[in-house]
Amino acid sequence: MALHTTRTFQTFLKLAFAGMLGASLVAGDAGAEEKPPSPGSAKAIFGSVSLPSQGVAQPYGFYAKGCMSGAVALPTDGPTWQVMRISRNRRWGNPAMISLLERLSRDAARYDGWPGLLVGDISQPRGGPMFNGHASHQIGLDADIWLTPMPAHPLSIEERETLPFTTMLQKNAFLTINPSVWTESRARLLMRAASYPQVERIFVNPAIKKKMCDTWTGDRTNLGKLRPIYGHDSHFHIRIKCPPGTTACKPQAPVPADDGCGKSLAWWFTKEPWAPPKPPKPGTKPVKPREVMVSDLPNACSAVLAAPSVDSIQAATFGGAADAPAVAPTAAVPAAASDEGLPVIGPVPDDKPSIE
Ligand SMILES: [Zn+2]
Repeated sequence: MALHTTRTFQTFLKLAFAGMLGASLVAGDAGAEEKPPSPGSAKAIFGSVSLPSQGVAQPYGFYAKGCMSGAVALPTDGPTWQVMRISRNRRWGNPAMISLLERLSRDAARYDGWPGLLVGDISQPRGGPMFNGHASHQIGLDADIWLTPMPAHPLSIEERETLPFTTMLQKNAFLTINPSVWTESRARLLMRAASYPQVERIFVNPAIKKKMCDTWTGDRTNLGKLRPIYGHDSHFHIRIKCPPGTTACKPQAPVPADDGCGKSLAWWFTKEPWAPPKPPKPGTKPVKPREVMVSDLPNACSAVLAAPSVDSIQAATFGGAADAPAVAPTAAVPAAASDEGLPVIGPVPDDKPSIE
C-alpha cells in the first residue's frame, strides 16, 4: 500500500511537472503557439494602433475587457528602471500606473537592495486585448515586472529583446523555489510593491506565494495582495485600483482580508489545478470560444479607436522624456513575458482567469 501510494504520488508529481511545463510553455512562448487574430477582431485592431489617443486619461471597462484613452508611455530608461521588449510597444499606461512604477523603482533601489526594475508589458497605446500573452493589461492599470534585477549598464535594444527570463522555480521539482536564485531582496521588492494603497493585487507563482508565507517576518498586512496564479515564476504582475475620478473603470472585488496563506494557497499544491482538461462528452462538438470584437468591449472603445492620435511617442512619454530609441513598433514579435495566458488545464479557483 505504502509503495502504491508512493508510486501514485510520483506519478502525480510527474503529471504535475508536466502541467508546469505546459504552464511555462504557455507563459513563455504564447506568441509562437497562438493563432494570429482575424482581421477585424479587437485583438487585430487594437494591436495595430501605434499611438495613444489625445486627451484625458481614462480606463474604460475592466482589466480583461476594455481599453483606454490618453495613455502615457513609461520612458524606456530611467535612473532605476529599463523597459524590456521595446518593440512590442506595450509601455503605455494610465499616468497613475506609470508614476507608481517610477516610484516603486526608486523605493526598491533606496530601501530594498533592488538596483532597479526591468519592466515588461504594461498596455498597448489604446489598451484593448492583445494578440498574445495576456488576458488583462487592457486598461492601462496592469504591469509586468521581471524578477531579474536591472543590470548596472543600460541594456542594448537587442539585449532587451533577447535577454532570457530566469525562473525562480527549481527544475524537476513541483512548485519549489530554487534557493540559489531566490533572494530576500526579491521578497522585499514584492512587499514594497504590495505596500502602496493604490496597488490592488500582485500576481505571483504559487511557489513564490508559499515562500513569502513561510519566510516573510515583517508586517504581513499586505501579504494577502500577493495572489497565486499559473506562470509568473520569472516576473510578477502589479494591478492597481481604478484611479480616483475615473468613472468608466470597473473595479475588481477586493482581495480577502486574510494573508492568503491558508486553504486557497494549499489548493495549488493539490492535483486539481494541474489536471488535464476533461475530454468532451462523446457526440458533443467542442465549443470554440468566439473572438472578441470591438463591439464586445465598452461602447467608449470605438470612440477611443476613432479619436485623433498624439503627435508622437515622445509627446506622450511620461515626464516628456525624449529618449525613445528608434525602434519601429511591430505587432509581430512573439510573446516573451506572457502571463495571464492561462493554460487550459482544468478548473480554476475564484481569483483567476476570468478576472485576470
Ligand atoms: Zn501581467
